[in-house]
Amino acid sequence: MPTGILAVTEQVEGAFKNISFEAISAGKKIGDALGGPLTALVMGAEGEAIAGQAAEYGADRILVASDAGLNDGLPDACTQAVDQIVAQCDPAVIVIGATSLGKDIAARLSARLQAPLAMDCVDVRVDGDQVVATRPMYGGKVLADASLSGSPAIVAIRPRAMEAVAASGAGEVETVAVSLEGTVLTLVEKHMESGKIDLTEADVVITGGRGMGGEDFCVVENLAKTVDGAVGASRSAVDEGWRPVSDQVGQTGKVVAPNLYVACGVSGAIQHLAGMASSRVVVAVNKDPEAPIFSKCDYGIVGDLFEVVPAITAEIEKL
Ligand code: FAD
Repeated sequence: MPTGILAVTEQVEGAFKNISFEAISAGKKIGDALGGPLTALVMGAEGEAIAGQAAEYGADRILVASDAGLNDGLPDACTQAVDQIVAQCDPAVIVIGATSLGKDIAARLSARLQAPLAMDCVDVRVDGDQVVATRPMYGGKVLADASLSGSPAIVAIRPRAMEAVAASGAGEVETVAVSLEGTVLTLVEKHMESGKIDLTEADVVITGGRGMGGEDFCVVENLAKTVDGAVGASRSAVDEGWRPVSDQVGQTGKVVAPNLYVACGVSGAIQHLAGMASSRVVVAVNKDPEAPIFSKCDYGIVGDLFEVVPAITAEIEKL
């Protein structure tokens, strides 16, 4: 019976995303319980330069698939690579981040391998010889435990839900060849600002809602820039075309769990809360004292966001 764990990592601009270390740590926890070795998979041409860092979180073996076709994080190509690595390693459990790319890979892999998948997990443990994953349901109203029977069990973990814990692993780095023949290698045109903070990895998220009243998000952007945060948006702001869909926070958008979440002109609909309820500290700015968001925040400011947010930004700039 297989006992090994495969943790699939992700990079941005030649550096590991934090979710990679969180996935390796989750893999280490399961590996320790099952008594199996932990392998980390690093994909892309820049993988070799950073692979060693995976050992700092307990990876025993680090496989680098350095094919340049994996550089752009295309789901079809990445799934093919992971599939081939799975065939080589025969893991009992695959841990991957529940990011946009990770969810895509996890779902495709589950279909290809006919393997059980738990998406968006906030915890994972081993009970007997079963992998048990905890995941929110009904917009975060309940936490459900899912027992995964079958091998490999695929667990996609929510970013920032499980801590990356330093641990020692043998860290043997090995370059492996994968074939990307037949995969869709679309030309990716990236319009991401260099150095832009990933919403799901950010320590601080400043979100604008319909209360922004138009396309001018600069008050929110200025505050985000001042505190090295990322900009988020409610679905209404996205539907209005004020922000790209990649900025949407919520049930049908991204799930974030920053240390500080500032909601500006957001009413606090249940579908929005589902995406930010795990934030450590929530601040709401809304001109309606009855707005539901005020019952879900740690600090509430009743006022016009176009006065309040620039005033906060100016005070922080003085520090
Ligand atoms: P509104 O509800 O219109 O609230 C705007 C707020 O701004 C109001 O409270 C108002 O008092 C305040 N305001 C206005 N002007 C100012 C000002 N000058 N200063 C201060 N405050 C001001 N929503 C999401 O966000 N994410 C999702 O992923 C999501 N998924 C959904 C999935 C489904 C299946 C469905 C049905 C809905 C989903 N929604 C989602 C939509 C959700 O129900 C709400 O409609 C949406 O979140 C409302 O966005 P909002 O708070 O920006 O707008």
